[in-house]
Amino acid sequence: PAPERSTHVVLLACPGTGHVLPVAELARRVAGLDGFTVTLVTFTNFSSGDQYSSTFASLPPSVSTALLPEVSIDDLPADARAETRIIAVVRRALPHLRDLLRSLIDSPAGIAAFVPDLFCPWALEVSAELGVPGYTFCPTNLMALSTILHTPELDRTTTCEFRDLPELIRLPGCVPLHGSELLDTIQDRANPAYGLIVDLVKLYLLAQGFLVNTFDAMEHETIVAFNDLSDEGVYPPAYAVGPFIRPRSEESSEHNSLRWLDDQPDGSVLYMCFGSGGTLSREQTDELAAGLEASRQRFLWVVQFPSDKDKSGAFFGGGRGDGDNPVKYLPEGFVERTEGTGLVVLFWAPQVEILSHPAVGGFVSHCGWNSTLEAVAAGVPTIAWPLYAEQRMNAKMLSERAGMALRPEAREDGVVTRDEVAAVARELMVGEKGASARKKARQLREEMEKGLAPDGQSRKVFEAVAGTWKAAGNETAA
Ligand code: UDP
Repeated sequence: PAPERSTHVVLLACPGTGHVLPVAELARRVAGLDGFTVTLVTFTNFSSGDQYSSTFASLPPSVSTALLPEVSIDDLPADARAETRIIAVVRRALPHLRDLLRSLIDSPAGIAAFVPDLFCPWALEVSAELGVPGYTFCPTNLMALSTILHTPELDRTTTCEFRDLPELIRLPGCVPLHGSELLDTIQDRANPAYGLIVDLVKLYLLAQGFLVNTFDAMEHETIVAFNDLSDEGVYPPAYAVGPFIRPRSEESSEHNSLRWLDDQPDGSVLYMCFGSGGTLSREQTDELAAGLEASRQRFLWVVQFPSDKDKSGAFFGGGRGDGDNPVKYLPEGFVERTEGTGLVVLFWAPQVEILSHPAVGGFVSHCGWNSTLEAVAAGVPTIAWPLYAEQRMNAKMLSERAGMALRPEAREDGVVTRDEVAAVARELMVGEKGASARKKARQLREEMEKGLAPDGQSRKVFEAVAGTWKAAGNETAA
């Protein structure tokens, strides 16, 4: 008999580190299954040449990459939100995507399944039109996805801004949320991004299912409740197949931050990083630095330029490359005074490698979902410092449900003072609440590892979905 044709899966990642990196890991996982090949499609817009090159270079040969040509979004207003820009890119590149999918369908590989990520549901219309089964990859957690799916109903049934809703929002299996904790994209009804989020929800219903970057021990109640709704036909099913985390790379181990960590005592360093985009105001930067210094804890801090306007100011590499240096915005003498016990790194550090270094004992995190999963994978407790996107709900889940995060209290104006920073940093690193959060983080790491083991829950669910793809691929080949 002729050798069985391999099952070809096409993945599409929207622009943004927090999307491209986990989709690349999904590609690695699919390609690791027997008899599967993958095409990983990304957009030219917002991806500077080599941003993801080391991740892509580490993918196995059965993963091909394809780049959709750049599209113009010059006509968007200068103050358009990041989500509005991303979605404009996705929609305008659809004709290119259609051409690519058509040529792949006509090639010997065919396409067994198409999996665009969360901000690309318009692509599902294209795959449906071409007769290819579509799934949605959710790079964040299922609670965040549940709130997004609930947005049209909130939109219909309320009139005020969500942050002014008097009642908590209680979704099945989810931590009760205040309206202000919902996605920050939908906090202003007048902003065009709001309408885009409300609209994309109905497109998700075109998908056969959601592949979610989460795992049972993290969100058990949410997963059970969601799939009850899916059994009732409300939503497509959610498959908790995560986490998808970038493996440690040899190349990064040369970074000066890791060599510096080698010289620090075990569990002594507080690592601080607000993701690929997070920015603090000038005042908050001052308070954070002063509090850190007062806490007398060792630290490793990835700094960005401060921004008084935007909490995601560095999202697309904003502020870099003008010869200015973010260290200039730290308090005078801070770097000199903390020399030996603290290290400041500009813009970017090898986070996965840092978190798993034995010297790291805590993480001040913006609670981006990838960062959160990386903290769990390293068993490191966090100080939750959410800034934008779905990070406020992630922070709540981590502190209230997982118990692995402490939360600093902010002043009325949102600023966390130096005294609070010092207190919470000490508590996390050497206090009782910190010890308890560390224990929880380590327990969760164990559960997560079990889920990914050959018999584990995440792996079994993943293999079941892949089995469906294989069957679909064989059917189209027949
Ligand atoms: N990251 C990193 N070094 C940095 C900042 C970020 O390696 O200095 C990685 C981090 O490990 C994570 C991703 O970038 O994998 C950021 O994703 P996340 O969802 O945490 O936040 P986002 O950047 O999307 O807000």
